[in-house]
Amino acid sequence: MSRLVVALGGNAIQRAHDHGTWSESVRQMRRTVPALAEVVRAGHELIVTHGNGPQVGNLLREAELGAPEIPAPPMHVLDAESEGQIGYLVALELEAELRRRRLAHTVVAMIGRTEVSARDPAFRHPTKPVGRFYPERDARRLARGEGWVMRPDPQRGGWRRVVPSPRPRRWLEGPGVRRMLDAGLGSQLVPVVTGGGGIPVVRDRSGRYRGVDAVIDKDRTAALVALELGADTLAIVTDVPAAAVGFGSAHPRWLGEVGAAEMAGYLARGEFGEGSMAPKIEAGLDFLRGGGGRFVVTDIPSLPAALAGRAGTRVVGGSTAPRKAPSSAPRRSGKPRS
Ligand code: ADP
Ligand code: MG
Repeated sequence: MSRLVVALGGNAIQRAHDHGTWSESVRQMRRTVPALAEVVRAGHELIVTHGNGPQVGNLLREAELGAPEIPAPPMHVLDAESEGQIGYLVALELEAELRRRRLAHTVVAMIGRTEVSARDPAFRHPTKPVGRFYPERDARRLARGEGWVMRPDPQRGGWRRVVPSPRPRRWLEGPGVRRMLDAGLGSQLVPVVTGGGGIPVVRDRSGRYRGVDAVIDKDRTAALVALELGADTLAIVTDVPAAAVGFGSAHPRWLGEVGAAEMAGYLARGEFGEGSMAPKIEAGLDFLRGGGGRFVVTDIPSLPAALAGRAGTRVVGGSTAPRKAPSSAPRRSGKPRS
């Protein structure tokens, strides 16, 4: 049985033009779950992770509108809320789809915590825009009052809050989930883990964790999760059927099976969009460098065929260009799975 981590992109939960209503999310999730159920049926041990950008953005706005009557929770608490919302949605719809196929798995959605380093350079250089646009006056007031870092966005005419995007270093629930799966429970459970990259937490000197206001790239955390669980395959599911070279040109070349070194070359050449496809490819290469077997990029309809080697971009082979493995990607530890 192969162990498979699937990372769902924003599009699996909400489409670009959706308003973000619950019924829209249910509709979209119903388009997503058949492929997931099919891979379970095909015998993969499935672990699901997902993004949370639009959801946490809405929660931030809601918190802002609710204040001062209802005190605004910190962003890491809103992260937890969004994991709850989305995990619940996946549980409802994926379980229903599994039952239709006479599969008895329970979908177990967890609140994931991801340790980041308080000394991560990202904390000194927040870069990730979150929430809405503000006029300059409001932005300056929020910077003074809330201590937020605000940046102008000349293209879209307004100011936005930016938060750090530190590297995920450790997934706190990882060892527990690994023990569960290694005990054979993967044939009965589908864990939903580290939504939105997990809640960023830092460890203080006494060993206690506390949440911080930051966002973690969900694809980076997905690579960490896949390594921590000793997964054979990491599949990053987005809204394109594969990665391409010459993307956006008149003649893109869609990539099928590619060696890791070749893929690292395309990445270095800038073939993959910054902030969109590039972080996915980086995450996949980190997974392979850490000892992972295979990394797949595709969309939901193509997922089953991609796993069978007939669609999507499939990257294999751990020996890539001489870049050193990042600290976020631990070597596989413990005994190898059979
Ligand atoms: P998600 O929200 O699903 O995590 P993103 O929207 O951030 O994913 O990234 C997926 C997008 O990356 C695609 O819709 C595509 O427009 C873009 N992209 C950039 N470069 C490439 C490339 N070389 N090949 C394929 N897609 C690319
Ligand atoms: Mg997107």
